[in-house]
Amino acid sequence: MNDIEYRQQVLDKLGPSFCGAKWYNATIWLGSGMTTSCHHPPAHRIPVENITRNPKLLHNTDQKKQDRADMQAGRRPSGCEYCWKIEDMGRDAISDRVYKTRIYEQADLEYALKLDPNHNVDLKTLEIAFDRTCQFACSYCNPAFSTTWVRDIKNNGPYTGLISDGRNHFTHPHDLNQLYRFDETNPYVEAFFDWWESDLHRTLQELRITGGEPLMSGHTWRLIDWFKTNQGRSTTRLAINSNLGFDSSKMQDFIDRIQDLPHVELYTSCEALYAQAEYIRDGLNFEQWYNNVVMLLKSNAIKTVHVMCTINALCLDTLPLFLNQLVELRHEYGKKAVVFTLNILRFPSFQSALVLPREVRQYHVMALRYWYSQNMHNRLVHQHELNHVNRLIDYLDVVETPHSQAFELEKLQKDFKNFYTQYDQRRGKDFAKTFWRLRNWYNSL
Ligand code: SF4
Repeated sequence: MNDIEYRQQVLDKLGPSFCGAKWYNATIWLGSGMTTSCHHPPAHRIPVENITRNPKLLHNTDQKKQDRADMQAGRRPSGCEYCWKIEDMGRDAISDRVYKTRIYEQADLEYALKLDPNHNVDLKTLEIAFDRTCQFACSYCNPAFSTTWVRDIKNNGPYTGLISDGRNHFTHPHDLNQLYRFDETNPYVEAFFDWWESDLHRTLQELRITGGEPLMSGHTWRLIDWFKTNQGRSTTRLAINSNLGFDSSKMQDFIDRIQDLPHVELYTSCEALYAQAEYIRDGLNFEQWYNNVVMLLKSNAIKTVHVMCTINALCLDTLPLFLNQLVELRHEYGKKAVVFTLNILRFPSFQSALVLPREVRQYHVMALRYWYSQNMHNRLVHQHELNHVNRLIDYLDVVETPHSQAFELEKLQKDFKNFYTQYDQRRGKDFAKTFWRLRNWYNSL
């Protein structure tokens, strides 16, 4: 059954706004004590007094229970706007609600539909971040998720003059995102390990560790060691989101530590080539990243490298060539060795692809259509990848604003110029040289 058939024949029958992620999936930031169902709804706080009583309340917050009740009644929770916006485009658009529901068994979905929304559900898929330690400071990230970003703000002061940065991502060090010092006990981390020992190691199908950079957190190694010393006790797939910004000896160390573990997968981010990729993801050495991907593929320590492309205004120029490079790897390592997803950036909205002038967007629509036509019968390209490319084409062609609260285009473009001017000064970069196709437009802003 393809994605459209799934949406029509299964998901819509469960309800017009039902999404399995609300019950069975969570992202939990243990450093800040925040959670959400998937990446799209805004994160909300987990009361610390609850989790010491019952670690399952790391996931089962009042907010999620209310959202579940709404979905059971066919109402759309406002936090899930990302999906509603895509679905309202028509054209058989496939939102993440489809992808994030179809991974679960039909019986589990029907069970959730009828369940008391206040029931404390056991998770099936979970993404956690232990802390925000990270050696990168990507342009679309902020100090909430990266200690290198924190340093930028602490050393150089806030980014100034941004009108559309309503949530003040770039103006302060987000100290609330690291509630506990590294030499203190973090009750959220302790609750996670308690829940892991009591239930999660049995109920979870996938545990994904994100960050910060997870390979820089001691808790990640604690978990890897748990899997090593408890082999056979858990069938949970361990997925690690890493920026792969390490030299080859650190990579080898990682490969050696996971070599005997049967269920480890690696997720990494990139969406452009060479200098443009390094501009977007400050700290990245593209060649090192690529060599580390190849090193992982050669090692057989993991089944698949998942490349998550964050689609922003600056990646579109080299995105088709970057995708070609990933497909090329499959000739040597097999179709499943590397897979990609295209995830559309909405925040910060001034970095959305929708800030680009209409004619530039249309140019990229044409380039992506060409890529699609060249790959639609390529046996090495997955159907879900073609769907993602198609979705991006529609998004660039049809959607006008990144999200409902976004400022008008002129203000977003001003912020775009303002932000990258300061980013260049702080990081020693050169926008006009790196994105020469956009130079005239950029200079005119
Ligand atoms: S944003 Fe979409 S995928 Fe995420 S929980 Fe809401 S409906 Fe599900």
